[in-house]
Amino acid sequence: TETLVIKDLHVSVEGKPILNGVNLTINRGETHALMGPNGSGKSTLGNAIMGHPSYEVTGGTIEINGEDVLDMDASERARAGIFMAFQRPMAIPGVKLADFLRHAATNVRNPDRKEGEDLIPMREFRKELKEKMGQLKMDTEFARRYVNDGFSGGEMKRAEILQLAMLRPKFAILDETDSGLDVDAVKLASQSIAAIAQETEGGTEMGILIITHHDKLLEQNTPDFTHVMLGGRLVETGGEELARELYTNGYDRIRADHPVEA
Ligand code: ADP
Ligand code: MG
Ligand code: MG
Repeated sequence: TETLVIKDLHVSVEGKPILNGVNLTINRGETHALMGPNGSGKSTLGNAIMGHPSYEVTGGTIEINGEDVLDMDASERARAGIFMAFQRPMAIPGVKLADFLRHAATNVRNPDRKEGEDLIPMREFRKELKEKMGQLKMDTEFARRYVNDGFSGGEMKRAEILQLAMLRPKFAILDETDSGLDVDAVKLASQSIAAIAQETEGGTEMGILIITHHDKLLEQNTPDFTHVMLGGRLVETGGEELARELYTNGYDRIRADHPVEA
């Protein structure tokens, strides 16, 4: 199986250590939930995996199928099959969502493509986009909107899910803010992510890391593993029962059991 392996990862932001030795292995086909109190370092882990320039890796390794991820820039990571939807994606005025997706999908699917070479043929792309939007119950008009320009929270989430469906990465990191989404939007997002995750690509499902506090999301996407981040370390790993415990009871027990990190 294909793997994303993180060993003893240390990450600093503006010279301040945030992650203090994170170990995590995700196999394709597995769903991992990452939970933990606000400020514990969950988004920092996602950003470091994606190569966000503000997050400086000061120690440890990240490998995809044995290849050094830290050596790759952000677009090389995407081409290697790693996907992350950013919590606050930038608006790209003048670029329609469909065009953005066509470029992104071309790059990810043809890793050896040189800048300026042909994109996925329009006809083929349109057909696939329409099919995916149908499955996700999205109005095709939505793809004509400019990327994130005036998108509501729910629309940003839809754009992100459509991106996930079109790019079909090997590993997806879904960093869910609890803000901005109403109950219906969360439900729709949960169902869509579950549907995409189950769609097999070459017989293999995606490996997913879901960063969330939403019980809905995890009900639809039952985690094989639940990890708890505290003070920049993964202090506990369990199954779905650990996720249930945490969204029911909060983090008091975790803090009491791990006083050094808390
Ligand atoms: P979580 O996602 O678990 O809520 P974060 O990874 O966002 O936690 O943040 C962990 C810590 O790192 C916090 O103290 C936060 O202020 C700090 N941090 C994260 N990203 C940045 C950044 N871009 N600039 C400054 N501080 C940051
Ligand atoms: Mg699975
Ligand atoms: Mg976060």
